[in-house]
Amino acid sequence: MKNIHHSWAEPYKIKMVELLKISTATQRKKAMKEAGFNTFLLRSEDVYIDLLTDSGTSAMSDRQWAGLMMGDEAYAGSKNFYHLEKVVKEVYGYKYLLPTHQGRGAENILSRILIKKGDIIPGNMYFTTTRLHQELAGGKFEDIIIDEAHDPENEFAFKGNVDLDKLDRLVKKHGAAKIPYVSIATSVNMAGGQPISMKNLKELRAYCKKHKIRIIHDMTRVAENAYFIQQKEKGYEKKSVKEIVNEINSYTDGATMSAKKDALVNIGGFLALNEWDVFEEARNMVVVYEGLHTYGGLAGRDMEAMAIGIGESVCDDHIRARVGQVIYLGNKMMEYGIPIVKPIGGHGIFLDAKKFLPHIPQENYPAQTLAAEIYLDSGVRTMERGVVSAGRKANGENYYPKLELLRFTIPRRVYTQAHMDVIAESAASVFERRNKIKGLKMVYEPRYLRFFQARFEKLN
Ligand SMILES: *Cc1c(COP(=O)(O)O)cnc(C)c1O
Repeated sequence: MKNIHHSWAEPYKIKMVELLKISTATQRKKAMKEAGFNTFLLRSEDVYIDLLTDSGTSAMSDRQWAGLMMGDEAYAGSKNFYHLEKVVKEVYGYKYLLPTHQGRGAENILSRILIKKGDIIPGNMYFTTTRLHQELAGGKFEDIIIDEAHDPENEFAFKGNVDLDKLDRLVKKHGAAKIPYVSIATSVNMAGGQPISMKNLKELRAYCKKHKIRIIHDMTRVAENAYFIQQKEKGYEKKSVKEIVNEINSYTDGATMSAKKDALVNIGGFLALNEWDVFEEARNMVVVYEGLHTYGGLAGRDMEAMAIGIGESVCDDHIRARVGQVIYLGNKMMEYGIPIVKPIGGHGIFLDAKKFLPHIPQENYPAQTLAAEIYLDSGVRTMERGVVSAGRKANGENYYPKLELLRFTIPRRVYTQAHMDVIAESAASVFERRNKIKGLKMVYEPRYLRFFQARFEKLN
């Protein structure tokens, strides 16, 4: 019986369904043109399987929906805030909590408090909103992720790791006083959802302690990272995801969270801190940008759904199925010979657009092109993570990232295995006619986070 493959099957069953529209090729062609070849500008109604993002797109459980009915919509001191505060302490281990409307709300407040003009913020690869808030606060982001992370072919298990030599060079060059904190993401999004190891995190902690530098944790996908540690790192096989999450957090001084990811809600986020002084300042600032410190831009019911979602997100059965589904899709793509980032990450499949469309130079947006082609083929919506997302430097020059990726992000608990098959089949049929595909030119470019609203036209 040894040859039986055991499935990652879901630890839930379906209680309600949302009907989808299945469009024709002609309808999709029209919709794509109207959207300026930017999948962010499509109407969701025109999308069959939506893999634009795993942000705010999760399916809530019946318990979370019941939680919505228990919303205490008081302006101040809502009981849902106290429930959330208790859960964040218990599950994540941080002392002080400030809810925010979503992750970037927390990033804004934190950056304004900790960053001074001319500061350096080292991080394990940039994230769009995180880096922008650091820059708007007068800081400069410096990438200290290991080189392996920039190589989509490299199969190292912990491509989210920090290169301590890179950090040390920055400390020597600028001095530790110029570095308010090291910004550490778990399940590094832009590298393809790649985890950081506990060993690396411990070494980083020891280094930062010596130089009196804080570690701030972008914990948006910490549970997925913890799952990879459990599966791949020695000494963690028998620990629960919840225990591992707690240990990860214990090596950091505070966190920003987009609860729209791991925490299984459609809106919400928070800033969590261990230092009273920083918290006090943040609690002061949150009233300017988000709302009173006991709601931070959220309804009481949103905080309740988040508190329940956090508990569900660190259950081993949940996370095994969540990551299992992503791995299923990745394996299917590899069977078709499609070039993807390896190892397969926690929240989506990242197609290597430079390899897929080697005849299209980065100036003509290979990943953006591929996003349009996949949509035209099947109505599957994906997202560019390459030169468009990378944007421009403060001096106006384009960033040209090594990684030119197309992200197929899997919402949590939303799609079935047959949906995964449809997605892989669509990628495969575009792959078959890849030589005939032409690139794009940008015809409208917004100033900030251009990938959201830029418009393109097809090259002749
Ligand atoms: C989504 C995300 C954010 C920003 O959070 P929002 O809720 O979208 O504002 C920050 N960091 C990472 C890694 C993310 O994935």
